[in-house]
Amino acid sequence: MKIHSRQLSFTRPILVSFAGLLVGFILIAVLVTLSQRKDIVEDYHEINRNFTHNLAVNYTASILQENDHVLDRAARFYSHNDALHNAVSIDRVHGLERLMQLLVLMPRVSSISIADEAGHYLRAPQAIIEANKDHFDAKTRPWFAHQADSAIFSRYTDAYVDFFTHQETITLFRPVVAPDGLLKGTLAFHLDLSSMSYTLRQMQSPVQGEYFVVNRLGRAVLHPHTSEILKTLIAPSLMNKMTNGEGAVYDKKNDVWIYYYSFTNPDWFVIFKVSGTTLSDLARHETITVAWGFALVAILIVLFGLYLRHASRTVLMNIINAINTGDIKQAPKLEATLSKAILSNKERELTYVRQATVDALTGCKNRRAFDSEVAALINDNQPFALSMVDIDNFKSINDTWGHLSGDIVLRNVAREGIQVLKPHGVSLYRYGGEEFAVVFTEDSLPGAIDLLEEWREKVAQRSWREEGLRVTFSGGFSEWSMEPLDQLISTVDEALYKAKQQGKNQILRSKPV
Ligand code: GH3
Ligand code: MG
Ligand code: MG
Repeated sequence: MKIHSRQLSFTRPILVSFAGLLVGFILIAVLVTLSQRKDIVEDYHEINRNFTHNLAVNYTASILQENDHVLDRAARFYSHNDALHNAVSIDRVHGLERLMQLLVLMPRVSSISIADEAGHYLRAPQAIIEANKDHFDAKTRPWFAHQADSAIFSRYTDAYVDFFTHQETITLFRPVVAPDGLLKGTLAFHLDLSSMSYTLRQMQSPVQGEYFVVNRLGRAVLHPHTSEILKTLIAPSLMNKMTNGEGAVYDKKNDVWIYYYSFTNPDWFVIFKVSGTTLSDLARHETITVAWGFALVAILIVLFGLYLRHASRTVLMNIINAINTGDIKQAPKLEATLSKAILSNKERELTYVRQATVDALTGCKNRRAFDSEVAALINDNQPFALSMVDIDNFKSINDTWGHLSGDIVLRNVAREGIQVLKPHGVSLYRYGGEEFAVVFTEDSLPGAIDLLEEWREKVAQRSWREEGLRVTFSGGFSEWSMEPLDQLISTVDEALYKAKQQGKNQILRSKPV
């Protein structure tokens, strides 16, 4: 049987407190870890943007400028006098030689074309047109066709198929314009995209990812892996989102971050592609130590909670044990012990209360109970009546049959009284010596005299073991009419005195005043 109540279990509050502490701590740990991860991912975005910026400004732009610079100087050379006309029409051998000298200086250019405005052209290195092939017409080439659009600036063509190599290529071209503004022709560098890409291969990205250069259509122009060149690597829909000079777009479908830097001439984009998983892996990796730290503290909280629960139980049990038995080695269940101690304490207290209000000889309530209960009735203004009962000639009973018999008489008179009065909720008190008091409260008031008479008759008719013993008592009776207790008692005593005078063995009601 479970004898302890939940309210007595003090391990519960300990467990609840520690559980609360643990939940709060875990909540904070999760929030801190998440916000830390967010910060770390933000940092990596910044690092990746910087890398893309440097890749564009320090490497790609310098390669482009180098070509541009040489093209500019060469175009200026051909713009003077009849240099271009001489090369393509008059002295082609010498012209080709000059172009080859130029080509040797340009490791990132695979071939050079030069054409006058009529379409006469020279290509270095020279390419022979196969007999059954179409006639080569320089004017149909994109680098020639668009010469008028570009004014005096150099321009890049889109990717197109080279007539001679049948390979896709991109050409950097520039109109050759004489100082007097006359258009003399076009000078074109056919780019070697693989060797231009070589520099990219030497780069080291800060986080794992792919970097390359694409044109407006998302086709790779420069790529560390030559096999990827001119493949479409970025979907046009994503390219359309790259509206700033530099920035980042997120490809939701593939969970990829694309950092970009855009050039204006050519309309190319430096791209750095990093997968979202790579970023979150990095963030996870950097927060893992802190997360383990948090986990360790959480485990410590649990362990401390369990230890405190165990230790406090043990200590308290030992204290209770020591109090109860003096034997500190015994270890009964804590709450049961605690409850037992409380119960037995309560029982002891009730015994003391009973002992304090019950008369030991007769079993009636004692004088002390009489005083406090009557005082309470008066205090609460409850109507009641009082009777004082005194055994007749008790002194001679003592004298004749001895004091012990006197005690027996007292006990039996009281028992008869209790038997008559108690069922009616009426209390009998031993007022002192062989004198009793009876208090009738509101409910028992109407039949008060009858009850007293019943008791009196029972005692008078009772036969006793002692030869010739006859016991009677006399009583006085009065209802309380708001007077002080002493006054009520003396009124009742007066009636009792009268009953004695009138021959005893009778109960007299005090005359109403
Ligand atoms: P009356 O009819 O006028 O009351 O006469 P009485 O003899 O009863 O009157 P009194 O008051 O003179 O005598 C009371 C006696 O009761 C005195 C005392 O010895 C005795 N007595 C008081 N308390 C006890 C008790 O606890 N036990 C015994 N055996 N006698 C007691
Ligand atoms: Mg007396
Ligand atoms: Mg008496």
